[in-house]
Amino acid sequence: MLATKMQSAINQQIHNEIASGYLYLAMAAYLESQNYSGAAHWMREQYREEVEHAGKLFKYMNDRNARVVLEGIEKPQVDFGTLKDVFTLVLSHERKVTASIDSLYELAVADKDFATQIELQWFVKEQLEEEKTAQDILVQIEACDGKPHLMLMIDHQLGKRGK
Ligand code: MG
Repeated sequence: MLATKMQSAINQQIHNEIASGYLYLAMAAYLESQNYSGAAHWMREQYREEVEHAGKLFKYMNDRNARVVLEGIEKPQVDFGTLKDVFTLVLSHERKVTASIDSLYELAVADKDFATQIELQWFVKEQLEEEKTAQDILVQIEACDGKPHLMLMIDHQLGKRGK
């Protein structure tokens, strides 16, 4: 049986993953409105992944006979500025998610909860990847220096995610 404190911490993380997905879906809607259809596609893929992350923890809770309790989700922002602003926010958001995964892991170590540590290792690696991806895209956007034809190329590249 999962410790009560661990159960509520994982429930909180399920909320974080769903809320992240919701933020990315809001970004997808914004990017569509700005005619960045490739970046919007990238963001919908990101949304889908976040929902999968929540689903992974949802399954883990059930496997451990723990009760999943869902919380309300706040309305995300509507406008996100330039493409650079969008990916700057993605990076800072993912850094926050990394911090929340790290503190979950810390709790699992303190509790000597080995099964949860193993479950969380996937998330630790995933966060490494999330931060690297956002960072790489940001470097590319900065290299374009706002030149429209180069920004179009980036949008086209982002549109290939998962294809
Ligand atoms: Mg995630």
